Amino acid sequence: MVQLQKPKFVFMGGKLRSWDEAMLHVGCEAVTRGLNVFEGIKGYSQPDGRFGIVMLRRHYERLQRSARLLHIPFDHTYDEFKNAIFELIGSLREPDRDMWARPTLFAIEGYWGEYTISDLVITAYHQDKQPPESINLGVSTWQRSPDVSLPARVKAGTNYQVARLAKMEGRARSCQDMVLLNQWGRVAEATGSCVLIVREGVIYTPPATEGALESITLDIVEALSHSLGITFIHRPIDRTELLVADEIATCGTLAEVTLVKSIEGLPLAEEKTILAAIQTRYLEAVRGIDPHPFVELSYLPT
Ligand code: PMP
Repeated sequence: MVQLQKPKFVFMGGKLRSWDEAMLHVGCEAVTRGLNVFEGIKGYSQPDGRFGIVMLRRHYERLQRSARLLHIPFDHTYDEFKNAIFELIGSLREPDRDMWARPTLFAIEGYWGEYTISDLVITAYHQDKQPPESINLGVSTWQRSPDVSLPARVKAGTNYQVARLAKMEGRARSCQDMVLLNQWGRVAEATGSCVLIVREGVIYTPPATEGALESITLDIVEALSHSLGITFIHRPIDRTELLVADEIATCGTLAEVTLVKSIEGLPLAEEKTILAAIQTRYLEAVRGIDPHPFVELSYLPT
């Protein structure tokens, strides 16, 4: 059984608090309507001992966009946001380990969109330095909701109700992750990452308008593909195209680049030349082994 880590500190109400102290009231909209938007941010221990957080400004900007779309006030400047993350990670970090941080804006006051007040709460968890294991991927019977109901562009906690159901469905079918199709029956994304396929040496991924989050990792993968001389195209992907792809991977901050070994129970070729090359280059860039100009790292002050 996987259990959530309970790190010593949480950033809440403008300062560090103990894990047990970090509570929300049952009456707030964050609890009654699940009103929150969040980000998942990854930081890696670098070869020189520093700690580098990947694409921090891009995550801040996406959090701002999610908050704006749900009318949740978010008036922290980038520097305030960055310092809060630095403060928490600085207090929890262990040498040579990576971390995943989740800044969340919870609606702590307000009623049906009036007088909304939010709090920036940040939790951070330790991660060990292992490349992601290859997975069995399935296609869920649950769908990504359309832009007019729960827009995929908004990274809100409530969007993950369907992902949770899809993961449960996947578990029963020995799939570690599941693809959600969109309302047109085409590939939207996986439960917490985007989908990449390869056909005849070209990487394809569905555009965000197919029901995928505007992924920051995808932009990195695109830049790495260009550097490696691999063509990268955003276009819709049919369900059957997924089943006949030469290679498949998922990508996201937490998933990094995860290779897929079977799709809907059909094994894929073991040799994944293109996506394995992308995976290696991605990990080298974020770990600071072979930096890439597109991959911005913000270093924790030493
Ligand atoms: N789609 C979903 C549903 C996600 O949760 C994530 C992870 N944030 C992604 C895609 C990938 O986004 P990113 O590369 O910005 O982490």
